[in-house]
Amino acid sequence: MQRIYLDNNATTPVLPEVFEAMRPYFGEHFGNASSIHHHGQETRAAVEDSRESVAKLLGCHASEIIFTSGGTESDNLAISGLVDAGDQVVTSSIEHHAVLHACKHLEELGCEVTILPVDGRGLIDPADVRRALKPNTKLISIMMANNETGVLQPVDEIGKIAAEAGVYFHTDAVQAAAKVVIDVKRIACQVLTISGHKIHAPQGVGALYVRKGTKLRPMFFGGRHERSRRAGTENVPGIVALGKAAQIAKQGLDRGDEKKMSALRDRLQQGILTQIEDASISGQGAARVPNTTNIRFDHIEGESLVIALDLKGLAVSTGAACSSGAIEPSHVLIAMGLRSDQAKESIRFSLGKQTTDADIEFALALVPETVARLRELSPTYRRATVSS
Ligand code: PLP
Repeated sequence: MQRIYLDNNATTPVLPEVFEAMRPYFGEHFGNASSIHHHGQETRAAVEDSRESVAKLLGCHASEIIFTSGGTESDNLAISGLVDAGDQVVTSSIEHHAVLHACKHLEELGCEVTILPVDGRGLIDPADVRRALKPNTKLISIMMANNETGVLQPVDEIGKIAAEAGVYFHTDAVQAAAKVVIDVKRIACQVLTISGHKIHAPQGVGALYVRKGTKLRPMFFGGRHERSRRAGTENVPGIVALGKAAQIAKQGLDRGDEKKMSALRDRLQQGILTQIEDASISGQGAARVPNTTNIRFDHIEGESLVIALDLKGLAVSTGAACSSGAIEPSHVLIAMGLRSDQAKESIRFSLGKQTTDADIEFALALVPETVARLRELSPTYRRATVSS
């Protein structure tokens, strides 16, 4: 069966060039990057080359990059590394759980956490950020792009507010990296998170940008890896892959590849909206990353639609999470003002570098008939069509 993958915000396939770049580091070049002999020097050089490539993607100096195990670790390191008991952290209701749960943990340790709302488009108002600041504010943590809707937050403005107030600014750029140009100087953040598996490198590797001079308390204690900021023998193959993926991402952004991606995404979105009535986009009206669209189909359980599409070969996702056996609606869509039943009617389509015109055609042929079939089975749809 043909299988089309439009769930790249969950994870992306490793690009063949990325896989080829990392392959020798499982075999021939196996040294520990801390060893002083030839084998160690070889892998150390590869790690440092990757650091340069990641730094180029983010517009910073290589010494400002710490390699980690992924987005979750980078978010946790950024947040727990900058805040002490009694400090206030300002964040938003649409952050990834890697940020929200890290903040919740800090609250248990005696920090004050302020969670800002978003508007119907999923946007944080910088004026709310400014109003939330207090004498004990230490950190603002607001994501660059949302994983469920793709909505881009006004991080440049928020960075200015943080700088004026003299507080740290962290941004989770996991879903922005490789999709939009990131310049840490323009954002004026002290810490910024990226993850390998969202940019066509493997799962289990990521990075944290830490601006020179920022005093970050480590989370792990051990050897003096990563300038004593992240102890633990480096994941050399993963780091090499992240470096290669960052290089490819930078080349793509320099060529303007994201325009092609947003054209594909727009075609998918438009095709769905013209063929299916009672469908709407969450986050419309806000700037979004070029690969994501989150569409709500009235009267359908998103979960049923994901399963029905998967049976026909199309992989997409709901933002919903399964907790203790029950499907919880997406906290992001709820924060944007959707009712719980509406949030559960939503599906996220997310494209990757490998997505082709043919993939979009496949989705456009499949989604309308599947939605129509599920609506026929939906009691709320039947009631709505009988009464109209
Ligand atoms: N932040 C955002 C916005 C994400 O989308 C994700 C993953 O979905 C993460 C953080 C966590 O990254 P990782 O899976 O590398 O731990």
